[in-house]
Amino acid sequence: SLGHKAGDTLLISVAERLKLGVRQHDTVARVSGDEFVVIIEAEQAELSIEQNLQRLLNAFSEPFELEGHLLFVTASIGVSHYPNDGKLASELISNADAAMYNAKQKGRNQFSFFSEKQAFAVKQQTSIENALRGALKRNEFELFYQPQIKLFNSDCLGLEVLLRWKNPDLGEVSPSVFIPLAEQLGLIWELGSWVLKKACEQGIRWQNKGIKFGQLAVNVAGMQLQHGQFYKEVKAILAQTGFPASQLELEITEDFVMSQADDSIHQLDAIRQLGVDIAIDDFGTGYSSLSYLKQLPVNKLKIDRSFVNDLENDNDSEMIISSIIALGQAMHLNVIAEGQAMHLNVIAEGVENKLQAETLMDNGCELAQGFLYGKPMSADMVETWVLRNKATLQ
Ligand code: C2E
Ligand code: CA
Ligand code: CA
Repeated sequence: SLGHKAGDTLLISVAERLKLGVRQHDTVARVSGDEFVVIIEAEQAELSIEQNLQRLLNAFSEPFELEGHLLFVTASIGVSHYPNDGKLASELISNADAAMYNAKQKGRNQFSFFSEKQAFAVKQQTSIENALRGALKRNEFELFYQPQIKLFNSDCLGLEVLLRWKNPDLGEVSPSVFIPLAEQLGLIWELGSWVLKKACEQGIRWQNKGIKFGQLAVNVAGMQLQHGQFYKEVKAILAQTGFPASQLELEITEDFVMSQADDSIHQLDAIRQLGVDIAIDDFGTGYSSLSYLKQLPVNKLKIDRSFVNDLENDNDSEMIISSIIALGQAMHLNVIAEGQAMHLNVIAEGVENKLQAETLMDNGCELAQGFLYGKPMSADMVETWVLRNKATLQ
């Protein structure tokens, strides 16, 4: 937040403090971004390894002074031991890395030793990675669909498209696990296009069969939007498949939109111009700037599941939900796209029981999604669901 130059200066100061925490002949190296590797030769050490680690952590107890600011920096340390935890440098580093994530999970300013359990997790991670690389080619993905309904009459408003992966060795892997991995491995663009294309094709198939499903809401990972070509891709897929733009909605997480500021407005604006709707997912968990939100070409806010989940035993959640609904109503006419005022809808996610649904309605929420109305289901099951629901759709 203070700029690249300040970031560089801070990294240099951190390196200098780390050097003070070890002996002359130990090694301190910066390996990437904010990650450092310290090599301590334990054989000749006067201090125990724990004492050494504590000394390194102590290096961060005082704030760093930078351009008149006092910055508090914390460190998380992962430790791997030669030769028990690996004989190759690459092995030792990746095992220390795994231990570091463990340290991070424990909280700030912690250290953690590489263990058998982590070894297992790393192995599992590697096998998921390898399987994921070939999964598209092996046709292991399928799209599921979850209904979004109007609370007052249970009409189907649309379907959220949710990706499913089933691998012969790993079984079903949750998208919360493999989507972040696909982002890390650079597979998300190909996977994201596949999802969008398949969803539009399915939409056309349903249209041809006279099945009325409303809109299709497709999740978009932050990295897909960061790619300057995303808008063109959406346009091309709509043209190729013939799926109407007005029936497509893209869900983008609050976290991502807010972190990207101006850059994403242009892409989102261009996509909006095509007639595609934009929803902000997991709303309430990120750090929305209201003035920024006002500029965004957004049609819908999706209240995060965690607030709905806590409704029964937590007054704060109800207050947050009613605030988000009020926000949606207040911004109703402020959100402008193509010079036209548009409606900013609010939908609650993760509705599992009647009590939650009633509380939502009491607070003026009109739209909902959750197991109470329908779990994510295969395309075939959607057809039965739609018929059974006797939805009178738009
Ligand atoms: P999300 O976008 O917040 O999706 C909603 C998640 O909540 C889904 O999990 C859905 O199955 C689950 N859910 C729906 N109703 C209920 C309920 O009443 N109770 C509970 N406990 N859960 C409910 P799922 O399908 O496991 O997806 C997890 C996340 O993975 C999604 O969260 C989304 O962020 C991501 N994801 C899924 N498909 C895609 C995709 O095609 N592309 C991208 N980029 N991300 C995807
Ligand atoms: Ca979503
Ligand atoms: Ca969500």
